[in-house]
Amino acid sequence: MVSRMPPDVREGWEAYAACRGADTSLFFAPNYFERREEKLAREAKAKAICARCPVREPCLEYALRIRDPHGIWGGLNELERRRLLRARELAG
Ligand code: SF4
Repeated sequence: MVSRMPPDVREGWEAYAACRGADTSLFFAPNYFERREEKLAREAKAKAICARCPVREPCLEYALRIRDPHGIWGGLNELERRRLLRARELAG
């Protein structure tokens, strides 16, 4: 799954990603309308993979740093990452 990152931004941790070889469609919304229940079910499967991932923290920090607006990274979806960034900004 992590192969979606361009080579120039790879940092080494992705070699240990639990999502290597996983179905990318679990981690990203389809290009058609996805009902809420479908999104929750899809994300739950992706998050279950993230939950056992040894590089969850660097993955999440990477996504936060590049402000990736799509998909599950580090066990969080785009909205959850935005909330985390906002909370960090408020915390100073
Ligand atoms: S935390 Fe999730 S998205 Fe990130 S590398 Fe691990 S399995 Fe992949």
